[in-house]
Amino acid sequence: MKHIVQKGETVKKIAYKYNVRPFDILLFNPHIYAENSYVQPEMEMHIPVIQGEQNVISDWESQTEFSQSDLEKLLPDLKKLGIRVDIIGYSVLNQPIYALAIGKGKKEVFYSGGWHANEWHTSKFLTRYIQELASCYRSGEQWHGYDVTKLLTEATLYMVPLVNPDGVDLVLQGNYPNHPHYENIRTINKGMARFEHWSSNIRGVDLNHQWPAKWEEEAKGSPQIPWARHYSGNGPLTEPEAQAIYRYTLNHSFAYVLAFHSQGQVIYWGYRGLEPKESKEMVHRLSLVSSYTPVHTAESDGGYKDWFIQETKRAGFTIEVGVGTNPLPSESFAEIWSNNCLLALEGLAL
Ligand SMILES: [Zn+2]
Repeated sequence: MKHIVQKGETVKKIAYKYNVRPFDILLFNPHIYAENSYVQPEMEMHIPVIQGEQNVISDWESQTEFSQSDLEKLLPDLKKLGIRVDIIGYSVLNQPIYALAIGKGKKEVFYSGGWHANEWHTSKFLTRYIQELASCYRSGEQWHGYDVTKLLTEATLYMVPLVNPDGVDLVLQGNYPNHPHYENIRTINKGMARFEHWSSNIRGVDLNHQWPAKWEEEAKGSPQIPWARHYSGNGPLTEPEAQAIYRYTLNHSFAYVLAFHSQGQVIYWGYRGLEPKESKEMVHRLSLVSSYTPVHTAESDGGYKDWFIQETKRAGFTIEVGVGTNPLPSESFAEIWSNNCLLALEGLAL
């Protein structure tokens, strides 16, 4: 069987789709060197037809990567569950930035993820979480002892699961001659063909270093040219992805925000002493249910949570999920899911 690689696909995702092992794909495609080799749009692949018993591998879904195309495939299901879907802006490569919402409560809560290209686990977590939450809401079931109906009667959850779709695609599929930013990406990455270390957007700007909260301070101590990480841009909020979140935040009245990143199993909750005094009790509650450690501040500026605290005087948290080095391996998802489901449920009740 022949398969033409689509945007956002990886060896593992394709194996999962056809119910074969990644190993079988490698066996039938000598041009693909390893399971983590990039397979790029338009590339032709041979899919072996395995005779006999179908594989029954129940944990595959928890082992594959997640990107914009996966989110888009899930949108019809999310809508059926009563989740409202909006487009709040477009990335540099003109991909929609999706916002999801569920609930009817007066208290508005905002969760965001996928800020950094090599942190796609946070997007996968948030999307799966809202899907499960909506399904419990619909059926009236409790979830881990939380009364979901009550939670979503008192609060409305707003969510942007994937702030940086272009960056995630780059980490999963690499750079290739047909890529609209091929030359620019090569220059930023000094000719190197791997992108595990890339956390910026496609123009080499770090979307969590873009915020008008002592932006100049942060920019001074960061790379001065577009880079795979930590370049603050040539001014605050120059990038369309950051602008979309900025507008979305100003158009709502979020009681507090949780921004998901990886990794470290910590929760940052302060910013230059500007956080409200209830932040301390709130982070304590998030920590109890997740086992993640509260840390007052990372001694940095220019982040989304920093700006939110400074702008609104309300509570903002950065949740660093997972343990290890980015990009975390697919297998990390089990820990991320089990610790953060409770954290994200408690997060609605704060
Ligand atoms: Zn991050």
